[in-house]
Amino acid sequence: MKKVRVRYAPSPTGHLHIGGARTALFNYLFAKHYDGDFIIRIEDTDIARNVEHGEENQITGLSWMGIDADESPSRPNPKYAPYRQMERLEMYTEIAEKLVEMGHAYKCYCTTEELEEDYEKQKEAGHASTRYNLKCYHLSEEEKKHNEENGLEYTIRLHVPENKTYEFDDLIRGHVSFESKDMGDWVIVKQNGIPTYNFAVVVDDYSMDITHVFRGEEHLSNTPKQLMIYEMLGWEAPTFGHMTLIVNEDHKKLSKRDESIMQFIEQYEKAGYLPEAMFNFLSLLGWSPASEQEIFTHDELVEQFDEKRLSKSPSMFDKDKLTWINKEYLKKLSDEEMIAFCKPYLLNNEDTKHQPDEWLNAIVLLFREQIGYGEQIVELSTLFTTEPELSQEVMDVFEWETTPTVIESFLKNFPKDYTPENLKELMNVVKKETGIKGKPLFMGVRAVTSHQVHGPDLNSTLVLLGEDKVKARCQAYLDEKA
Ligand code: GLU
Repeated sequence: MKKVRVRYAPSPTGHLHIGGARTALFNYLFAKHYDGDFIIRIEDTDIARNVEHGEENQITGLSWMGIDADESPSRPNPKYAPYRQMERLEMYTEIAEKLVEMGHAYKCYCTTEELEEDYEKQKEAGHASTRYNLKCYHLSEEEKKHNEENGLEYTIRLHVPENKTYEFDDLIRGHVSFESKDMGDWVIVKQNGIPTYNFAVVVDDYSMDITHVFRGEEHLSNTPKQLMIYEMLGWEAPTFGHMTLIVNEDHKKLSKRDESIMQFIEQYEKAGYLPEAMFNFLSLLGWSPASEQEIFTHDELVEQFDEKRLSKSPSMFDKDKLTWINKEYLKKLSDEEMIAFCKPYLLNNEDTKHQPDEWLNAIVLLFREQIGYGEQIVELSTLFTTEPELSQEVMDVFEWETTPTVIESFLKNFPKDYTPENLKELMNVVKKETGIKGKPLFMGVRAVTSHQVHGPDLNSTLVLLGEDKVKARCQAYLDEKA
């Protein structure tokens, strides 16, 4: 059997999108499962859409997730290099000329205006889809010579064979077929000499010995065009697998403008998701293991990946599931690692950045079971940094008959040194002095000092609120009651 070689072929047009990351991941898992090679090739022929750092964003984003390529622009295998399409133009020109010589392709001198006018006419005549009118396919030798001599600009078009069926067994979709009569002659090389995607991709996949292609379903209808070229050149085509869409919670296709979901891998990194969690989560977005297991290491996924279990129906991007998975990975961090991971968010936040180190560490540890992603610590910390509006529940506790008695005794016996041990002792003293215990005691202190009825362990809450705030809130409460 041939060595498995797959590729992820992004256009360097922005940041690494969730959809791209998933495509890369499935190709990677497939390659590694079969001891094959995973290749990154940059499809940069749409020059106007390329952005600075576009290639770097893709590669560093994947590398952050733990997906490193065996071959890429910066890690070329001389046998297959270069890995950027714009550096491979000669190869495309050569093959395009060959197709012209073979009679499968021809130069088309029609201008954009002419083409548009003709498509317009076809529409008016009621054609459901428009296609090239074959004018240049039928040029006489004389006309061709004349155009050549006058140096007219041209594209190269592929002539679509008549009455042919293009079919293939898609690893995900099963048997798929397309009729050639539904396709018009299409451009393989643009006027500027740059190949179109459907042409370049064939030359590259073939010359890089790609054996399998997993890509988004938007490319399904491109596949017959690509198969046409493989057939004309007598090249063996790779095996294709077209993955289904990723949809949001409203079952709409994930789009870069969708604000309900963070779209780019970098955003997840910034928000404090762990790379292992992203790797794990994305692997379940359109693929399912044979068991009920949901948390997998990198190596377990490589081992268990089975292309036959790729989903045939759209996969929903479930944010809560991602956060749950991330939490599972955060739980594995030691206290020190958790502090190191979360503290930068607090140091970046106006309300917490000036707090002493012990305070920052304590707050991370206090919430460590609740933190779903690093940045969430900031929101959780607001319990100690802001003046929350008093909820009805809090005000109800204020009205309990026992609360003033509890708070009075709490203030009266306030310790000199504000330490966790002394605070614990203080609660005992209050209990003894007032005879009030259990919920009326603890809830009373919690509501008056933190202005919340829920929250982490009371002793830690008091420590983190700090002496001044605790005293001031108790005093204010008693003044109000007086
Ligand atoms: N550059 C194409 C894309 O980003 C690659 C398609 C393919 O994998 O063939 O969609």
